[in-house]
Amino acid sequence: MSEVIATNQTILVVGAGISGITAALEAAETGKDVILIEKRPFIGGRVTQLYKYFPKLCYPTCGLEINQRRIKANPRIDILTLAEVTGVAGGEGDYSVTIRQSPRYVNENCTACGACAQAVEAEFEDEFNYNMSKRKGAYLPYNMAYPQRYVLDPRMIGTEDADKAKAACPYDAIELDMTEQELTLKVGAIVWATGWRPYDADKIQPYGHDRIDNVVSSVEFERMMDPFGPTGGKLLRPSDGKEAKDIAFIQCAGSRDRNHLLHCSRICCMATLKQTIYAREQYGDDAKATVYYIDIRAIDRFEDFYRKVQDDEQVRFVKSKVANIEEDKATGNAVCHGVDTEGYHRYANPHDLVVLAVGMEPSVDKDAFPVDVVVTREGFIELDEANGGVFAAGCASDALDVNRSVQSATAAALRAIQVVNRVARAEG
Ligand SMILES: Cc1cc2nc3c(=O)[nH]c(=O)nc-3n(C[C@H](O)[C@H](O)[C@H](O)COP(=O)(O)OP(=O)(O)OC[C@H]3O[C@@H](n4cnc5c(N)ncnc54)[C@H](O)[C@@H]3O)c2cc1C
Ligand code: SF4
Ligand code: SF4
Repeated sequence: MSEVIATNQTILVVGAGISGITAALEAAETGKDVILIEKRPFIGGRVTQLYKYFPKLCYPTCGLEINQRRIKANPRIDILTLAEVTGVAGGEGDYSVTIRQSPRYVNENCTACGACAQAVEAEFEDEFNYNMSKRKGAYLPYNMAYPQRYVLDPRMIGTEDADKAKAACPYDAIELDMTEQELTLKVGAIVWATGWRPYDADKIQPYGHDRIDNVVSSVEFERMMDPFGPTGGKLLRPSDGKEAKDIAFIQCAGSRDRNHLLHCSRICCMATLKQTIYAREQYGDDAKATVYYIDIRAIDRFEDFYRKVQDDEQVRFVKSKVANIEEDKATGNAVCHGVDTEGYHRYANPHDLVVLAVGMEPSVDKDAFPVDVVVTREGFIELDEANGGVFAAGCASDALDVNRSVQSATAAALRAIQVVNRVARAEG
């Protein structure tokens, strides 16, 4: 592990999604020393797995690239990937934080040439594509990953494949004897930006995500659109590779439901409206989208986006909570069953593909925080004096879109700066 120097005037940012990156940059650009830690092998968080952003339909890579440049230009930010906080002691202005960093087995010499990936045979599920495809045991998490450095899957260590990877590397970048490291840092304030995870669609049993091939979740759908994703950017049915032109979107899948998530994630309505546009972009007038909804929550400036989709004749809105989905074995279609509440008639509608608009929940379980923080019923971190010098940013504080995550991260950075400024004044 590279040497990391921290004092109680340093700000620790936990989680390097768009929120953590924003908080780190805002603090560092005012002259504060920042340590940014991320449990995955790359920074950027879940937006790296989105195809396009609503409302402007631009690519997330664009904003991420700008942030990467700002990070590279700022010597005040130290980044630790594959790292997690295991314990926090002390209080505001004087924290002692224990961090565990897993081995990457690849050092700074790596040029991302890819020779190691070609040399190995072992393949594992690709978590970046929500396990819809496989990747090699020596891999770059995704094409624009930062840092641009390969990773060796720990399950490969000790096998012949690991030796093959090392032998293939022309830059002496592979170190098979790297071990887990633990370090303790002194910091003054902590920005907690560990983000969200999609609600597990398999738990919504009537919708059959775990047993019907042509039922996917909204986050999986984002990956299907990506030219570097599991289907090379084509909307194809997982069951047989047929073009998926008739697509159903089911809102509130596992949200606003006392058996699953009680809260509304606020994002999934907009995500679906955006995804109907993906379908239209791909198949033009042949595309047909049906949105099954309870009510559409497109707030503030998003109302215009909603109207634009409503005006599209190829997009149909059905006010109904789908009761269950069955597979038609003969056609492979996913058949949605329910009652249309406008007219109260039963339907059994076949679709090529069904997309479940799953909700967002905090990525850290309620009872698994290594630091004392006040959380809501859902497990999002509250803004509370009892949290001392720990401030939540982005989706660690609520289900938010990128714009609101960035605002929340800037506010958290400001609060953290105020804490370390007080420390600096006290120390003269
Ligand atoms: C289907 C879907 C589509 C969406 N589309 C859009 C869109 O088009 N436009 C838009 O504005 N928003 C969209 N969103 C919302 C967007 O994804 C979020 O606003 C954004 O990801 C929030 O960023 P974040 O940094 O708060 O969290 P995350 O992106 O979750 O980042 C958190 C980071 O913390 C890391 N981490 C987690 N736990 C730990 C730990 N213990 N230690 C260290 N690191 C940790 C994670 O690995 C991750 O890198 C969409 C959401 C969904 C569900
Ligand atoms: S580890 Fe070596 S072989 Fe693999 S990508 Fe990096 S430089 Fe190339
Ligand atoms: S944003 Fe829409 S789909 Fe998501 S929980 Fe709220 S109402 Fe349901």
